[in-house]
Amino acid sequence: MEASTRIVCKFGGSSLASATQFRKVEAIVRADARRSIIVPSAPGKRDAKDAKITDLLYLCQHAASVDADFSATFAQIEERFLGIERELGLDASLAAELASLREGFARGISADHAASRGEYLSGRLLAALLGAEFVDPAECVVIGANGLVDPETWALLGARLADPARRCVVPGFYGRDAEGNIRTFSRGGSDVSGAVAARAAAAALYENWTDVPGLLMADPRIVPNPKPMDEVTYAEIRELSYMGASVLHEEAMAPVRDARIPVNIRNTNDPSAPGTRIVAELSPETIKNTQIAGVAGKASFAMITISKHLMNREVGFVYRLLGVLEHNGIAFEHCPSSIDSVSVIVDAQGMESRAQQVLAEIRRTLEPDALEYVPKVALVAVVGEGMSHAIGIAAKVFAALAAAEVNVRLINQGASELNIIVGVAPDDYPAAVRAIYGAFVP
Ligand code: ASP
Repeated sequence: MEASTRIVCKFGGSSLASATQFRKVEAIVRADARRSIIVPSAPGKRDAKDAKITDLLYLCQHAASVDADFSATFAQIEERFLGIERELGLDASLAAELASLREGFARGISADHAASRGEYLSGRLLAALLGAEFVDPAECVVIGANGLVDPETWALLGARLADPARRCVVPGFYGRDAEGNIRTFSRGGSDVSGAVAARAAAAALYENWTDVPGLLMADPRIVPNPKPMDEVTYAEIRELSYMGASVLHEEAMAPVRDARIPVNIRNTNDPSAPGTRIVAELSPETIKNTQIAGVAGKASFAMITISKHLMNREVGFVYRLLGVLEHNGIAFEHCPSSIDSVSVIVDAQGMESRAQQVLAEIRRTLEPDALEYVPKVALVAVVGEGMSHAIGIAAKVFAALAAAEVNVRLINQGASELNIIVGVAPDDYPAAVRAIYGAFVP
């Protein structure tokens, strides 16, 4: 079989917020014949004060469900869609669609059904604009009771997308459940829909078009103007997003990672910029030119440290420690240890109300020489594939922290060999992130 060259393009809400944005999307799609599967979000905000169509739909549905008046909110939805249709000079029969939606609200459609109409109508418009076939996910994307895509989807959607010569628009965010009712993914789920379409069509590439220049190497609220990453692996993304970096929707990675389909994050407002590529393996060029993928972190952990002389000879010590956590329903995040001491890092919020009980139980079961509890620590993760083999990375990290006068409370090099994690006081967290970022990006 010939290798696929098809590209799935997902456009986020801000990329479809107005007629002008629709025109940009049209130009991007037409610029490359391989862009044959298009997955739109519902129109998002045009500016900071604006409303997202999806939020308005939830509001209408809620009002209708308690017999309150939803006409003013509905009028906003109507105005947005009809305005875009008019400005684009299209006839996508949206007036009739909106009339039946209004009836639906009065009839009591579900919240999922209501929310899905944003993507549905956006898809109708885009299909008309592109002269493309409209593929309704209510017919071919199955969402399981757990909210995740059901494997039945691969064959169903795959069949609808089989002809590479036809350009299709498949709205994001929704599908149907086993009973045939409309069901949505969780919020932001059009990212997931794009990944699902890419996997079902065995696409060569999943382009995710947004309003940012790519995935950033650090949190822009802490580091001013951080650099976008050129290329990053699925595994690095997993580490960075677990540590709080905002990337794609969590559930969007699995379908493309499993099928090894690369992802390219692009900017609709700057289509000539290359964006960020997410791949299974880094290219030799990236390996040569970059030392780390990025820095991320969270200030929401707690740490328990237990010391006991000759702990290393006590069989089952850590087992019993984790047993106490299990018994109290607390998951642990990291567990760095030394000969006679071990720490567990847990989510601070889950620990808060149970701390005294957990500590008492640890004292009773493990009889430690010392027990320390730090209710708030921040963890900073420096993430980079192959970084454990490169010389001098750790030295750079710790020299930067020392120069910034940040006291390091714990160090953990993950067994995955793609991160170094340092624990610092929450007040030192921003300074730590800035210092580490500055050490790698001059
Ligand atoms: N429109 C949906 C939301 O606002 C899905 C998406 O945009 O990805 O959550």
